[in-house]
Amino acid sequence: NLHNMVQDLKGNIRVYCRIRPSFNAESKNAIDFIGNDGSLVIIDPSKTQKDGKKVFQFNRVFSPTATQDEVFKDTQPLIRSVMDGYNVCIFAYGQTGSGKTHTMSGPSGRSTKDLGINYLALNDLFQMCNRRKDIIDYEIYVQMVEIYNEQIRSCSENGFTLPDATLRSVKSTTHVLNLMKLGEVNRVVSSTASNNQSSRSHSVLTVHVHGKDMSGSTIRSCLHLVDLAGSERVDKSEVTGERLKEAQYINKSLSCLGDVITALAQKNSHIPYRNSKLTLLLQDSLGGHAKTLMFAHISPEEESFCETFSTLKFAQRVS
Ligand code: ADP
Ligand code: MG
Repeated sequence: NLHNMVQDLKGNIRVYCRIRPSFNAESKNAIDFIGNDGSLVIIDPSKTQKDGKKVFQFNRVFSPTATQDEVFKDTQPLIRSVMDGYNVCIFAYGQTGSGKTHTMSGPSGRSTKDLGINYLALNDLFQMCNRRKDIIDYEIYVQMVEIYNEQIRSCSENGFTLPDATLRSVKSTTHVLNLMKLGEVNRVVSSTASNNQSSRSHSVLTVHVHGKDMSGSTIRSCLHLVDLAGSERVDKSEVTGERLKEAQYINKSLSCLGDVITALAQKNSHIPYRNSKLTLLLQDSLGGHAKTLMFAHISPEEESFCETFSTLKFAQRVS
């Protein structure tokens, strides 16, 4: 039973860690141990600690060999709860190049192999609609927005900003895939530009589900699928102008997101949603009865240790 599956998830905030495969056979591996129970041990090359190891605990850790389907399988109960009226937020966090876009969208380019959570989630929602069509009449709408330097822009329709951003009613996954391509094209910070540049904005795909049953009662909920800007710290002595401004906006909004999720996890009475555009946009889907999942993405190479350590610390703080 779906409801029970969802209730079984411990608490409303979960954190998964995903490690991408290594691209450099020459480099040393920073991963020491991956446990089935969600534990992860990394090797600190600077050996400031006695044994040079650091231990973390998450709800799950996906090894570099984990497939898109395996990752989706552990995400599916959350996605299905949207059909029962829960609001859900799924975030991909991590430094540029750690696999955020791979998890959310899939490999870049035109490949239809290894599609990510965005596609698999929509596909699953459409299947659920179909299975329940004799009991509930569902409508699904999608919206793509991008947040760049604290400005929100809709990507579903060129030139529209949020209040009038068009909600597109969608009937099939193919339809959504086409819309996503359009959205990519319409992003201010084009993904066809260097990966570095596309990593400077947060991209948010929102799926709105409207359902109506025989008695006329309705369900309204949404699923936010968020590919966050790269979390890497830039060296302030090296960047200036636009790059420095971008970096400051990103640092600010990611730390605001961390503050909001931490405040929710600690059940604080004040949740600082208003400190960033991202948390303001997602406000209705963070906290309350909403469910949150964060993927902490890390690279396995020793050279990435500092960023990996800071991603894991961030993720540990919100879990
Ligand atoms: P990010 O969005 O965090 O900057 P990407 O998703 O673009 O990172 O990943 C960087 C590169 O690594 C891409 O070429 C991507 O296809 C590849 N990659 C990332 N994760 C995986 C994975 N789990 N399996 C295979 N390739 C991956
Ligand atoms: Mg990316």
